[in-house]
Amino acid sequence: MCNCKEHPELIDISSNYTTFNQSLDQLDAGDWVLLMQCKLCKQLYKVDVWDKLQTSYAIKIPSKENWKEFEAERLIKERIIKNRGGLLQSDCVWTNCNKKQVKSSAFCVNHIYSSGTRA
Ligand SMILES: [Zn+2]
Ligand SMILES: [Zn+2]
Repeated sequence: MCNCKEHPELIDISSNYTTFNQSLDQLDAGDWVLLMQCKLCKQLYKVDVWDKLQTSYAIKIPSKENWKEFEAERLIKERIIKNRGGLLQSDCVWTNCNKKQVKSSAFCVNHIYSSGTRA
């Protein structure tokens, strides 16, 4: 039995990286990303190469075709907002940015993401 069905589309595997990948086979590798497949149900995942300084994610992807281009940005931004408890009423402090600040930050999610933060 595997847990693929129970996993959300975007999975934070920072704390169980090795365990998570144990049940997967590596099919391909790209620039800091791996194409992995569940040994049991054949679900495909785009997995970040381990980096202890950064949050590592696994993302369910539908096919091997163009797997490197599969866009994780939207999912990661949603996760950043959720992790931090939502949005504030005030605008981002970045000049000319009128998107709302993410809680406990002075910036909107776009500017948090573009600074390299992934969680
Ligand atoms: Zn599976
Ligand atoms: Zn902003």
